[in-house]
Amino acid sequence: MRPEPTARDESFDNGRFDIAVIGAGVVGCAVVRRLALAGAKVVLIEKGSDILSGASKANSAILHTGFDAPPGSLELELIKAGREEYLSLRPSLGLDLVKTGALVCAWNDHEAEKLEAIATQGRENGVSNLALLSGAAARATMPGLSERLVAAIEVADEHIIDPWTAPLAYLTQGVALGARFLRNAELIEGRFDGDWRLATTAGTVTAGAVVNTAGLYGDIVDGRLGFTPEFEIRPRKGQFVVLDKAAYAHVPRIVLPVPTEITKGVVVCPTAFGNVLIGPTAEEQADRVRATVETEALESLLARGAQIVPALAGMPVTAVYAGLRPASETKAYRIFCRPEQRAVTLGGIRSTGLSAALGLAQHALKLIEGFGLSLSPVAAPAVRLPNLTETRPRDWQQPDHGEIVCHCEMATRREIEAALISPVPPGDFGGLRRRTRAGMGRCQGFYCNARLAEMTRGKLREPLAIGDEPS
Ligand SMILES: Cc1cc2nc3c(=O)[nH]c(=O)nc-3n(C[C@H](O)[C@H](O)[C@H](O)COP(=O)(O)OP(=O)(O)OC[C@H]3O[C@@H](n4cnc5c(N)ncnc54)[C@H](O)[C@@H]3O)c2cc1C
Repeated sequence: MRPEPTARDESFDNGRFDIAVIGAGVVGCAVVRRLALAGAKVVLIEKGSDILSGASKANSAILHTGFDAPPGSLELELIKAGREEYLSLRPSLGLDLVKTGALVCAWNDHEAEKLEAIATQGRENGVSNLALLSGAAARATMPGLSERLVAAIEVADEHIIDPWTAPLAYLTQGVALGARFLRNAELIEGRFDGDWRLATTAGTVTAGAVVNTAGLYGDIVDGRLGFTPEFEIRPRKGQFVVLDKAAYAHVPRIVLPVPTEITKGVVVCPTAFGNVLIGPTAEEQADRVRATVETEALESLLARGAQIVPALAGMPVTAVYAGLRPASETKAYRIFCRPEQRAVTLGGIRSTGLSAALGLAQHALKLIEGFGLSLSPVAAPAVRLPNLTETRPRDWQQPDHGEIVCHCEMATRREIEAALISPVPPGDFGGLRRRTRAGMGRCQGFYCNARLAEMTRGKLREPLAIGDEPS
């Protein structure tokens, strides 16, 4: 595999790419893979020091079926296409699926009255594996649920995935096909004169076409490309509480509320790593960067979690975090294609982007095929990512695992060293945590940060200094 270039590499500066993708969230990573498989010479331009520097680093990790997506919408179509492709390629990329199923729970008669309509819409959306259950029948599938449950819809095919390894796998496959990943490269300005001249903080990139996947900055990047933005990003914060692994036994399924117009609501669900999540909130804010957590909101999430699953009361909290959804002034995805300038914008991918990413990538390719670039598909190279989930044996369970560096999450030295020399190595400590789980457990790095700082010295673009708070 080719080493990653910096923009200062002569060969890189002089190169011309078929397509530049701006923004290395889950959508950008999926688009790079799809375009590289189509035979395009692709560059991924990211302002952060690693992939998943924006919305994609913090979500609920549900692979949605689309049962509650707006009927007839492009979002529904792309969730279904994305989910289908994820399921078909996951064995070859070593990606996981926790087959939890979900229960949409009604906690009073008013909510129960809405279930029939939700189930009907789900079936109309092509999700057939739905069943209306009484409270008792739903509790039989998940005994930890409160006795207050009135009724539920079982959506058997809603599942949980590892939200970090999937996009990493997409980009790794793209890189194996020759795609370039340019980090610490903020797009400042783009000019189209038959080719795109893209001025970034790491140098100028020339490309025949451009795809804007800048998430929370999608509208701003459209403006920097010289377009009048046709949408406005309105970040919507979601705060989460991560409960200790002891909670996992009580939450084998995704527990969804009856949704409102604004949000899918507070979810209680297992993670692929053996914890339990409670969240997210849905709070509009102007700030596109800072996603703070607030005691009051977290306490209310904990209280809500314990109302839903009483055994969660008093359960130790492992971590708290918040993510920002790249919402816009409407619910719909904001997708624009400008064939004259050979530009596509995949914007406003609000709250289903992890599920729809591969579908969005298929859609982007279809739009780009109309630009008249000459592309010929290539075979998918074999790529397998290491397993971080509890669904299969991990490295520490192998007889020759060697040193264990993070004892909370059982991350081995071998796993950490492999991540550091992988085709898409971490650029910062957050990226290392997302690739290995090191520092993500009960002690949040208290015991292993010093060792990790020593192991990563000179190897991360943004080093971890001992005493730093993990990002
Ligand atoms: C609280 C919450 C819960 C969610 N739960 C789920 C779920 O369960 N299932 C699901 O399917 N989806 C879920 N989502 C939605 C999903 O996370 C998003 O739809 C998805 O992450 C959007 O990805 P993106 O690639 O469009 O944007 P981002 O991840 O924001 O990526 C954009 C990238 O562009 C980069 N960038 C920005 N400006 C520039 C520039 N000028 N130059 C270069 N790079 C730039 C950023 O640094 C960033 O890395 C959830 C989201 C949140 C916040």
